[in-house]
Amino acid sequence: MASFLQTTLGTAADLLFPRSCVHCAGPVARGKYQYLCPSCARELQFCTPPACKTCGYPFFGAVIAARECPHCTELDPVFEKGKSLFLAKGPGRSLLHALKYQQGFYILKDLARMLQENPHFRAFLRGAILVPVPLHPTKLRDRGFNQSEQIARTLLRNSDAQAVELLLERKEFTESQTQLDRKDRMQNVKNAFAISSAANLMSHTNYILVDDVFTTGSTLNACARTLRAAGVTHIRAVAIGHG
Ligand SMILES: [Zn+2]
Ligand SMILES: [Zn+2]
Repeated sequence: MASFLQTTLGTAADLLFPRSCVHCAGPVARGKYQYLCPSCARELQFCTPPACKTCGYPFFGAVIAARECPHCTELDPVFEKGKSLFLAKGPGRSLLHALKYQQGFYILKDLARMLQENPHFRAFLRGAILVPVPLHPTKLRDRGFNQSEQIARTLLRNSDAQAVELLLERKEFTESQTQLDRKDRMQNVKNAFAISSAANLMSHTNYILVDDVFTTGSTLNACARTLRAAGVTHIRAVAIGHG
């Protein structure tokens, strides 16, 4: 009965306030996602295997002997493996943008649906403790939430991951990475992270760092280096968007 009511009320709300697509602003008819119209949904590119073992960038069916993509050749990753869910361009970029800059928590429902459609991504999370990349306290206060933590909690609810633990803190207020090149990005975040004072680290547990976007991997690498220095041996990484 409750679900019948919810559906009926949901349909009524849709008639009164039609949902619009986060990418093209067009109406979202009855597609599989709530905030991407069917045509933008078709444009969204998932990072399905075969893919780079470090960042999850798909090889698009090309037969490549290397296991790393051009994005990762200069990275020297401290984490063992990484995965991304979709390419952060076009509709993928708009989804992440809505979450990060417009408090678009509603996109997390679509994220949950996307996880159901990507069993390889869910399987990667099994049994792991998810560690969101932290924001500096000043930025957290300005934004009101950490998008990586919101993502990690959505991953936890929709997979067999064990828990979300806030093990890291950001001790340096770094400038935005978006205008920086690869070398400057590395320098920018090199000493930005520390183990949080309340953290209870277990050296042989499987930890997975969670970020919203994988760009050069320098942020995830700096976080991984901090965990490794504290004695953690199994560290992987995931991002929702790649690029
Ligand atoms: Zn659209
Ligand atoms: Zn890569």
